[in-house]
Amino acid sequence: MKKSLFFCALLSFSLSVFTCYGRGGKSKNPTLEACERGLSSINRASAQAIVGFLSSDPLEGREAGYNSSFIAAEYLVSQLIEAGLEPLDGSYRHPFSAYQEANFRRPGRVWYVHPDSVARIQNGPHRRMDMVNVFGVIPGERAEEFVIVGAHRDHWGRDLWKVGDQIYNGADDNASGVSCALQIARAVKKSGKKPLRTMIFAFWDGEEKGTLGSEWFTCQWPKIKQTKAYLNFDMAGGNNQPDNPPYFAYIYSQEVPAFGEWIKRDVEHYQLRLDPSIRPTENLTGGSDQGNFVALGIPFIWYHTDWTPYYHQVTDEVEQINWDKLVEITKASYLNAWNMANEEQY
Ligand SMILES: [Zn+2]
Repeated sequence: MKKSLFFCALLSFSLSVFTCYGRGGKSKNPTLEACERGLSSINRASAQAIVGFLSSDPLEGREAGYNSSFIAAEYLVSQLIEAGLEPLDGSYRHPFSAYQEANFRRPGRVWYVHPDSVARIQNGPHRRMDMVNVFGVIPGERAEEFVIVGAHRDHWGRDLWKVGDQIYNGADDNASGVSCALQIARAVKKSGKKPLRTMIFAFWDGEEKGTLGSEWFTCQWPKIKQTKAYLNFDMAGGNNQPDNPPYFAYIYSQEVPAFGEWIKRDVEHYQLRLDPSIRPTENLTGGSDQGNFVALGIPFIWYHTDWTPYYHQVTDEVEQINWDKLVEITKASYLNAWNMANEEQY
């Protein structure tokens, strides 16, 4: 082999060692085989089981501060333990509280979790709402460098005075996103490969009341600055364009062009039945939990199937979910998560 050819081959090998991307050749490197082993474990039955349970009527809409959100939390803890994930800093459950002033009744007032706001509110009459984030960890070769995959598990609960259907089941918003994050966690474990970076799987509470869970975490977790990237899910199974079911929004931090290249490459290479609307953005601090990471300069990718007629309605039920699309989105985002955790540079 010529020297230049050798270096060419070496470069080619080193580029493909960590990415989940084959060239269709006969021999595969072990990392690629591990990645695809995980990829092949992602399935529709799991998605239906996760979304079906979380959006069932007995879960009563998983409203933050209510028992139903704690039941959803316990379910996720059990799933993380069964999948072999480790706790974060010694626990799967990270409880926290939000506060608001209670000088007079005014529905819809905002809740605060930032320590500065909390200290001010605690000086007067106030309300406190207890919540809990759930975390599972897959340690990486670099134990102290992190990639976080997150989805909010709370929704809008039950309207006790509404006549007719009272339960905001939140199948698309956001049991679908929880299904993606949980299946990715299982798939990474099933790959059998230790990732380069430590992967944290987060199931936020209190998103619907103002992205409270992710704000509390990002403003007080001591190692947050060691986070390389954040992968967010908020509504991953809906049909925004009924005449084009594979459509979804792929929103990402424009300062990382690789995020835009990954989705195009993986959809094509793995023949995923998806039609992503690829949207690089700058400083997208609103809309979902990614905003709290953007505020700290941590780049993100956000999977979102866009607004639907059943958005924040009692009709956001399991029948609305496009299962084929949810599974394909789970596969595409698993590949993103793999790249986030394993690519040396991006
Ligand atoms: Zn949501």
